[in-house]
Amino acid sequence: MTKIQMKTPLAEIDGDEMTRVIWRWIKDELILPYVDLKTEYYDLELTNRDATSDKITLDAVEATGRLGVAVKCATITPTAAQVTEHKLKQQWKSPNAAIRGALDGTVFRAPIPLECVTPAVPRWKKPITIARHAYGDIYKNIEQRAGGVVIQTLHNTEKSIKAFAESCFKYAEDTCQPLWFSCKDTISPIYDGAFREIFAETAHDYPNVDYFYTLIDDAVSRVIRSEGGFIWALKNYDGDVMSDMLSSAFGSLSMMTSVLVSPDGKYEYEAAHGTVTRHYYRYLDGETPGTNPVATIFAWIGALRKRAELDELPELLDFTAGLEAATLDTLNGGIMTGDLAALASSKVRAVNTLEFLAAVKARI
Ligand code: NAP
Ligand code: MG
Repeated sequence: MTKIQMKTPLAEIDGDEMTRVIWRWIKDELILPYVDLKTEYYDLELTNRDATSDKITLDAVEATGRLGVAVKCATITPTAAQVTEHKLKQQWKSPNAAIRGALDGTVFRAPIPLECVTPAVPRWKKPITIARHAYGDIYKNIEQRAGGVVIQTLHNTEKSIKAFAESCFKYAEDTCQPLWFSCKDTISPIYDGAFREIFAETAHDYPNVDYFYTLIDDAVSRVIRSEGGFIWALKNYDGDVMSDMLSSAFGSLSMMTSVLVSPDGKYEYEAAHGTVTRHYYRYLDGETPGTNPVATIFAWIGALRKRAELDELPELLDFTAGLEAATLDTLNGGIMTGDLAALASSKVRAVNTLEFLAAVKARI
């Protein structure tokens, strides 16, 4: 069989622990047999970040900007205890924060809905994607407690709000979904008013995006009554809270996809979960754990699909559609890892990660 060809390489950013193991399995079982995979490989395993004094992270960030599409494995953000445990030169910062900062991008998180897992809100038929602004507000606040009062000072920048709005409209256009934005500009006409204005201005440049603004309390009640199928853009704190609410309401963090989109159209795909440490220690003890690989498979699908669109590669585009269908068929056919089996309403078979990947491969 001749393999599907690529033109431009992906920036492939490897990571840590159980997700690093799964990364290799997904490539070996589901991608390399079919695709003549072209990547620039950046190994962000904690030991290599330390050995290179984190230069490897800067290299990965540079490659993401240059190549335009990246796929990233989860990475450890070391705690103070891990600095001692791994004898690190210093407490390296989160690679995700470095990529987000460099691209000035917005993170879009969407659940992968399944027939056998009913959302907590049964009316939701389609995924709801959260777009959370990643700069400022209470995350960079100044607070004071004095003389019987508590005081908080917030800021944001018009540049960052504009980049946020651009990324949201670009993503809405890309994925053909309506875009909602909500804040509280009645109570905060200048601060929240600036967000509302900048979104309204940006809307003029995207006449084909179905854009809707409403106050956040009204948005919350509309979201609950909706069928889903839209992007909900939110300020930093609102997005922090609502994304956790939605991911639990849709099922599980292991079924959340995540993509960072920059205002100038660069994309970085990943799973929303971390490195699944507990499973990794069981793996080191010789067990094959039932870690759910679906969000990581979808990260690869997202990156390859974007590359196929940009480079006009219809065969690669078909392959991503086939891999997505095979993954969903496997799940809807009742074969899944334990985390999902525990949520399923119908009778299903719980398998380990390698058995799950084999079942997907059999359906490609
Ligand atoms: P986590 O790795 O997401 O795991 C938390 C728990 O959620 C797991 O112990 C597991 O529960 C369950 N879980 C998560 N993903 C799963 C999957 N794919 N399949 C099955 N179960 C899954 O979060 P964490 O324990 O808070 O963080 C671990 C490490 O990941 C930390 O070093 C953190 O810095 C890093 N992290 C990285 C990223 C990133 O790179 N994007 C994001 C978040 C965290 P059970 O153990 O009960 O089965
Ligand atoms: Mg949070």
